[in-house]
Amino acid sequence: MLEGKVVLVTGASRGIGRATALMAAQNHAKVIVNYNNSEDKAAELVDMIREQGYEATMIKADVSNEDEVKQMFKQIKKDYSRIDVLVNNAGIMKDSLLMFTKAELFDEIINTNCKGTFLCSRYASKMMIKQKSGKIINLSSIIGTQGSKGQSIYSGSKAFIVGFTKSLAKELGSYNIKVNAVAPGSIETDMLKIYDDEILENLKSNISLERLGKPEDVANVIIFLSSDMGNYVSGQVIGVDGCQTL
Ligand code: NAP
Repeated sequence: MLEGKVVLVTGASRGIGRATALMAAQNHAKVIVNYNNSEDKAAELVDMIREQGYEATMIKADVSNEDEVKQMFKQIKKDYSRIDVLVNNAGIMKDSLLMFTKAELFDEIINTNCKGTFLCSRYASKMMIKQKSGKIINLSSIIGTQGSKGQSIYSGSKAFIVGFTKSLAKELGSYNIKVNAVAPGSIETDMLKIYDDEILENLKSNISLERLGKPEDVANVIIFLSSDMGNYVSGQVIGVDGCQTL
């Protein structure tokens, strides 16, 4: 489905990003695995992709740091001369009631989830505008569209993704660049490991499909959007939540 396409997945060392990078490679994309702290996990993924006969490289960059993002895109330009798909997946979630939320925590969440998405989109779109083609897929969340107690900053960061996605879709459409977001529900990754079994059972009881999502459930939708099958889809926020939000 992605034959020959150059696909950058940010935060691909773990969770949804990892599943997306693997699935993109198995669909014959040239995959760039971005990571920040989990170098071993990123290397393990790249080795696995190569052992399966597919293509992948890895680049370390903190997406909230402009110098590192700039360097990453310089490397991509040098190695591949183009970028077809950017998946802005890197993100953090930290719960805190407003009264206890320090400005440092606000900065940390907003810098990673919002500034990171902005910076990567900015550098990728420079290349995509020249190519007159490209896809940007951003990770929002049902928390960004529905809100959640104790998650006001994370929720705000994911709501930003919705407005950012729709605005970029309008701004970049004439360059044949499609911009969409996915809004996952509760997906079984390290991100949910902060919750105990009782909270997870409670989450499950609100999901019509009666199970948490798997990273591959989200990756499937990202691959569809990345492929030519999603060529007339832009400016959308696609829920992948097992009917958790109705
Ligand atoms: P995860 O398992 O915690 O993995 C997070 C990934 O983001 C890791 O690969 C991590 O890389 C990377 N990352 C974090 N900060 C980074 C930074 N500054 N620069 C580069 N990479 C960074 O999370 P996940 O559950 O897969 O979530 C992925 C995305 O989906 C996030 O945007 C999240 O908000 C969204 N989402 C998740 C859920 C869910 O239920 N899991 C639901 C809705 C939305 P390193 O380990 O290498 O630092």
